[in-house]
Amino acid sequence: MGIMIFDIEILEVGARDGLQNEKVIFDTESKVRLITDAMAAGVKRLEVASFVNPKRVPQMADGEAVIERLPDDPVVTYIGLVLNKRGLLRALETKSGGKRGVDEVGLVAMATDTFGQKNQGQTSQESVDLCLDMMKFSHAQNMSVQVTLSAAFGCPFEGRVDQSHVIEMARQLAEGNPREIALADTIGVASPAKVTEMLGRLKEALPGIPLRAHFHNTRGTGLANAWAALLAGVTTLDASVGGLGGCPFAPKATGNIATEDLVYLLHESGVTTGVNLDNYLENLNWIEQDLGRVVPGMVKQAGGFPAGNVRP
Ligand code: MG
Repeated sequence: MGIMIFDIEILEVGARDGLQNEKVIFDTESKVRLITDAMAAGVKRLEVASFVNPKRVPQMADGEAVIERLPDDPVVTYIGLVLNKRGLLRALETKSGGKRGVDEVGLVAMATDTFGQKNQGQTSQESVDLCLDMMKFSHAQNMSVQVTLSAAFGCPFEGRVDQSHVIEMARQLAEGNPREIALADTIGVASPAKVTEMLGRLKEALPGIPLRAHFHNTRGTGLANAWAALLAGVTTLDASVGGLGGCPFAPKATGNIATEDLVYLLHESGVTTGVNLDNYLENLNWIEQDLGRVVPGMVKQAGGFPAGNVRP
């Protein structure tokens, strides 16, 4: 893995978590453009595809084709999301025949039984066990692997999630040696105080492991939560260009936090990201055109400040 030279690493999830929940289906070429534009703007780590059932998520059916067309940039990490062994095999297959393929797989464990059952037909514990199994398999294939705890701050079906359960899941998952553990507020219900508490407990329970956080702006708390997560010691924050996307299996889970809004907040606070805000805003011109609508991200509409200010 590359050396962290910026204060916070931005993980751009627009091409996967973003587009997966958009009604307009981007073709392979547009997905590649979205990814390479983000790279040109300085992003070094990106979710580029998910290897899931194309009948359930038709937006992601061309994962292999996208990956095959990505540039072989050595400083960038391409992530493929997988939810089961079949998906993991597809991710590994992208490297066959000496191809670059994906550099890392992202696994998902479900914080509640109902969310797990509706998503994957498995309980929370079964999802943890499967992740541990897939981590072992990934490591045996020299594939870097990380895991996200989905619905960690609240479940669309069960409501509030017990923090102790999430910490216990993370403790079990850490035994599989993932490169990082992430907490995802899949339905956008977290608050900064809860983020501080949860990540504080997690850091205490697992002092050695890098932490990432994934927030949605569904109730307007996404950026505040990202700031709380930064203060609590996460090294990486997920964000989606323009604020695209949600989760197709979580009702009303709209709005990942917008990368450019997050970058604005961080840069204005003296936190470096390596991402060029002006480039990001420029990239959104064609994305808005292709989507046929204005994106939810706010800095795209208001512009940076002062006008034309670029702080890498
Ligand atoms: Mg999301």
